[in-house]
Amino acid sequence: MKYVSTRGGCAPVSSAEAIKLGLAGDGGLFVPDELPELSEELLKELCGVTYYKRVAKVLHMFLCDSYSYEELEECSRVAYTEVKFPGGAAPVAKLNDRLYVLELWHGPTAAFKDMALQIMPRLLSLALQKTGESLKALILAATSGDTGKAALEGYKDVPGTKIMVFYPAGGVSSMQMLQMATQEGENVFVQAVKGNFDDTQAGVKRIFSSEKIKSDLAGRGYMITSANSINWGRLAPQIAYYISAYCDLVATGDVKLGEEIYVTVPTGNFGNILAAYIAKRMGLPIRRLICASNSNRVLADFFESGVYDKNREFFLTISPSMDILVSSNLERLLWFVTGPEDTAGYMKSLAETGKYQITPELHYELCRDFIGLWCPEDETRAEIKSVWERYRYLCDTHTAVGLYCAENYLEGDGRGASGRKMLAVSTASAYKFASDVYFALTGVTAEGAEAIEKLSEYTKTPVPAPLCGLEQRKIRFDPQAAIEADGMDGAVLAFAV
Ligand SMILES: *Cc1c(COP(=O)(O)O)cnc(C)c1O
Repeated sequence: MKYVSTRGGCAPVSSAEAIKLGLAGDGGLFVPDELPELSEELLKELCGVTYYKRVAKVLHMFLCDSYSYEELEECSRVAYTEVKFPGGAAPVAKLNDRLYVLELWHGPTAAFKDMALQIMPRLLSLALQKTGESLKALILAATSGDTGKAALEGYKDVPGTKIMVFYPAGGVSSMQMLQMATQEGENVFVQAVKGNFDDTQAGVKRIFSSEKIKSDLAGRGYMITSANSINWGRLAPQIAYYISAYCDLVATGDVKLGEEIYVTVPTGNFGNILAAYIAKRMGLPIRRLICASNSNRVLADFFESGVYDKNREFFLTISPSMDILVSSNLERLLWFVTGPEDTAGYMKSLAETGKYQITPELHYELCRDFIGLWCPEDETRAEIKSVWERYRYLCDTHTAVGLYCAENYLEGDGRGASGRKMLAVSTASAYKFASDVYFALTGVTAEGAEAIEKLSEYTKTPVPAPLCGLEQRKIRFDPQAAIEADGMDGAVLAFAV
């Protein structure tokens, strides 16, 4: 298996090179040129092993050109320990006979990005060795909140690396900001940027495509690479937890091996749901993927109409990690269903006009696998309260967007005799968005540490360890010192010393 660019403008590379480079030279994203097959036999075998071995086996299917199985198993073993993921790495909770929740927030930062970012630095370290790289890796990330913290935790004090994270000032929750501002580690830097997430992400993309900055950095001993979900090393580990969840449902007898299920994913940059799509293409029995958006419903409109149009009002919502108008990984989906020429054309149109329209045939094809739904702000709050009242299940704002869409979909589907089960993905701990969750439950406002405490009292549920005592930690990176987006290049050069 080789890795090719979604825009077809580069020679194929190995998996280690794809992980090292992050983004292809023509501005496209790396994709595997074929998909491994998940036979029923293999699925059965995976049902019988622990999480870290499931991850190792799935990763090996995608990375075996460069990595040995033993290397991947070792990376995975140290990434998903009981210490780092106290509740288990990816447990499945049952709400009712048809609705299940895949909890991806038991890691060090209490959000699903940990699932990939605890293992990716290890894959990158090995990639540098395997490709004979003499430069050190400077990881650059744009974050709408959760990626940044998870990347900082994953890379802090990893030898041979430095990491710099940019976030939109005012575009992340106070808890997310505090988590990043207090980040420890000698090789880290956190920078607020004026503007929204798309401005920040565009700034990082600009740096990646500037030969001038790259050669300046090389002169200083650094090569830049990405921790965003545009890096294949982020995506590959995410495929594993869908397969793992299915195995768990089989193990408990809730699903028969081979039985098709639905999967709902609260979506922003389209990375998480793309991993589910790849699992489906490999052979995991998924009938349909429900792509759940908040009021920034550009994806829901896309799946409805076949037109992607980012020229629209941008909303700051209570699910900020999904406040995105340009979902980068959608480019990979387009490649899987069309190929490099059409994908390059759509991306050119997106860059020039902010929109593109897919053909009716392609739209029809996508609608067989996907449906895009969205959840307004008031309904998000109502869902948090209703899920708590009906099931005594506490969920965060992003998960609530997903559960609302999942329940609506099941309702529409219910009269059909399918009886198919739904796996809804939970992407963050409720405590990460304690203020909004507490307000949704009680109508009472509380901020920061007080909100966490009150939420725990009210629901009699424990606060995840990574979110305890944050306000006592030392601020290392001043959130007030925001820079303009066009000053991001200078900030990177200043850090690369
Ligand atoms: C990143 C994130 C999302 C969106 O995931 P994508 O892979 O970008 O679609 C949803 N919820 C939370 C809590 C996140 O951190």
